[in-house]
Amino acid sequence: MSRALGDDWTLPLLDDRNRAWFTSGRLRIQRCEACEAWQHPPEDVCGSCQGTRLRFDECGETGRVESFVVVHRAVHPKLEASVPYAVALVSLDGAQGVQVLGNVLNRAPDALAIGQPVRVVFETVPDPEGGHTLHIPQWEAIES
Ligand SMILES: [Zn+2]
Repeated sequence: MSRALGDDWTLPLLDDRNRAWFTSGRLRIQRCEACEAWQHPPEDVCGSCQGTRLRFDECGETGRVESFVVVHRAVHPKLEASVPYAVALVSLDGAQGVQVLGNVLNRAPDALAIGQPVRVVFETVPDPEGGHTLHIPQWEAIES
């Protein structure tokens, strides 16, 4: 198994809004050209000023665990071998106000803590249906 939740787990369906997130191999977050606000997940309109000129900017590679939940019961048969696992809410150091979800790969769920500094790592996964290579953002705990 090379992916956090198993190699059989569902892959994202790409569109113009999420392509940068799942294929760039970098943390690229949507940003408003008018007011410079960051937002994630991407939308057609800026949530701060309703501007419609949006771009994707890199925001560095680190963040902090704001919260997490430990999943003990598989919600899908394909996840039975993965439990227990933690789903972490990570605030991005380089994108003010943005929080993203992911798994912390190098910490057991019972060793994870709120405030833990993390660095992005990418699960590289070929997408046989879409013909793309995905780089799915995940997290590793780093020492503070
Ligand atoms: Zn804006």
